[in-house]
Amino acid sequence: MLKKLLLSSIVIIGALLSIAFIRTLMHSAPEPTVNVGITADIDGEAATNNLAASIRFKTISHQDKENFSSQEFEGFIKWAADTYPEFHSAMQLEMLEYSLLFKWEGSDSSLAPILLTGHYDVVPVIPGTESIWKEEPFAGVISNNRIWGRGALDDKSGVVGMMEAATYLIKNNFQPTRTVYFSFGHDEEIGGGGAAQVTEKLKQEGVQLQWSLDEGSFVNKGFFPGVDKLVAPINVAEKGIMNLLIVAKAKGGHSSTPPKKTAVNILADALIKLENEPLPGTLEGLSAVMFDEVSKHMPFGYRFLFANRWLFGGLLDSQMSSTPVINAMIRTTTAPTMLNGSVKSNVLPIEATALINFRLHPRDSIESVTEHVRRVVGSDLVEVQALGGMEASGVSSWESPGYKIISSSLSKVYGEVVSVPGIMIAASDTRHYSKVADNSFRFNPFSILPEDMTGFHGTNESIAVDSFVAGIKTYVDIINEGSSN
Ligand SMILES: [Zn+2]
Repeated sequence: MLKKLLLSSIVIIGALLSIAFIRTLMHSAPEPTVNVGITADIDGEAATNNLAASIRFKTISHQDKENFSSQEFEGFIKWAADTYPEFHSAMQLEMLEYSLLFKWEGSDSSLAPILLTGHYDVVPVIPGTESIWKEEPFAGVISNNRIWGRGALDDKSGVVGMMEAATYLIKNNFQPTRTVYFSFGHDEEIGGGGAAQVTEKLKQEGVQLQWSLDEGSFVNKGFFPGVDKLVAPINVAEKGIMNLLIVAKAKGGHSSTPPKKTAVNILADALIKLENEPLPGTLEGLSAVMFDEVSKHMPFGYRFLFANRWLFGGLLDSQMSSTPVINAMIRTTTAPTMLNGSVKSNVLPIEATALINFRLHPRDSIESVTEHVRRVVGSDLVEVQALGGMEASGVSSWESPGYKIISSSLSKVYGEVVSVPGIMIAASDTRHYSKVADNSFRFNPFSILPEDMTGFHGTNESIAVDSFVAGIKTYVDIINEGSSN
């Protein structure tokens, strides 16, 4: 009897393993579809100098609007007009405050237009960190085959890259069939009021875009474990944001005779409960498509796991949740940020509060997260107060023309690139533009390495010259293909 049982267990395990192996073998990278096409012959040196020049305008978005320097913004706008005269004469320009909306009229007005967009404002340099920079942040220096300074990645390379690309097409007598809009925001870093006005303007004119392309992820290498190819996560969605205030209540009194649970202890218990029960982050929908695709390019061990999610789902979930960036891609994150207790060292607080900042995955809503927190915290001594927020965006189609054009343009310029639909962890102006677009994508066609990440809003922001030029070539192809059919 025992022997029979043992034998049948071995047979079952053997069968499971065979299935898992076959699935792993089938879960492998497809033949690379390298798109051989002629790419634009860009004057890299001139373009590089132009990006460097654009960085010298201190178009800083300060949290305190009093510090806004109209001179710098006007300077940038005049510089753009002088540097890109063909761009400016081929298009109609509408200014909304300091945000610029350009319209490049297509020959077929029956086709829905497309929109390419970026922002030319930048975040300030943290006072006191200037000396850590290898090159001055607003000097626009080119050294070691890199262009240095605030905005080199976020997002003057995008704005200047688009003007370079369109200028190249104009000089080569290109005429768009489908109307192309360019919108360059002036205050993305503080909410994007300019982009909101542009969106309103388009709406009033009855414009509904076929698709829009804004800043977002970059072509990258070395971000996904075990993948040694270029990966392009083309963001089809953007996370939302919300704050909740957790208020723990107690009697208070003198700190010399504390009860077992003070308001602070009650608050701490609530926070630990939330840590132990995060919002679900299972691989489904967009996350599943993204990791299914990327994992095909991983070594056997990873492929074995991803190809057999029916068997290893739990293990994979906990593995992915342990890396902050990947965790942020697959779930709504929970981050306690601001704490408050007593006002004096010997006074027990009557209330202790924690502000929790959530970044919403499209599968969750402000309401569902609030409900989750109330259920998990579940105590009469704790109150959960909603402080408002912004829902996650809708999810754009990765089967649609815009997505296909972006990914095929990338492979023409970069060769083999693994394009996958991604999710934007930070916010972009597309939260406004997407209101007038059938599909919205958030992606910069420049390539970066993991060590470049500290440059975003941090120190030593810089872009490799080759990467900038490759991005311009990609924009040329995107505009060409996007406006031709
Ligand atoms: Zn940006």
